[in-house]
Amino acid sequence: MVIRPSEQQLRDPRSLSVLVNKLRPLDPIGWVPEDLVMPAGLENPSGHPIRAAAAAALQVMAAAAAEAGVPFRLVSGYRSRELQQSLFEGYSASDGVAAAETYSARPGHSEHQTGLAVDLDDGAGHAFTSAFGDTAAGLWLRRHCAEFGFILRYEQGEQPVVGYIYEPWHFRYVGTEISLDMRESGIINYEEYVGAEPAPDYAAG
Ligand SMILES: [Zn+2]
Repeated sequence: MVIRPSEQQLRDPRSLSVLVNKLRPLDPIGWVPEDLVMPAGLENPSGHPIRAAAAAALQVMAAAAAEAGVPFRLVSGYRSRELQQSLFEGYSASDGVAAAETYSARPGHSEHQTGLAVDLDDGAGHAFTSAFGDTAAGLWLRRHCAEFGFILRYEQGEQPVVGYIYEPWHFRYVGTEISLDMRESGIINYEEYVGAEPAPDYAAG
């Protein structure tokens, strides 16, 4: 039996089990990981680094996907609080704040700031679209990501719990112990798995 992360691990940004969502900002809010590296073995048009443990797992997953004929690319990885701020402001300016809130985190609340989240695409024009979930690469990742320690973080229909629309491109590294346990137990969102409160929106005020 797998022991699920403790509240302390969920709050600790250094922990591979950290929980970040609209109710759980990074603490400290400007936290920067100390072990960011450039993942090897796959295209990285974002130029973003990620944490070492996630990079090692991503490299193995990329090799397996390429072997299966469904290579993928890294289109976003670690994003600093400052980068998230400029992204969120840009999305809000073009789509309006309410729409931006459904797919982009406020600064200090993005899982990308942990260095453990990756956005992936197939290099064929499906970046950041729900259609990516139906591509060969998207389907392969959905089926196999747990074997490499990743979970599909924002599943279809889970916005009331996870706070975001379906994002078939966004994967979170949690390690294989947790990812395989989640798959085995049929739990599709991390909040439920760790027994945390649903986070559909930011706390008022
Ligand atoms: Zn993402």
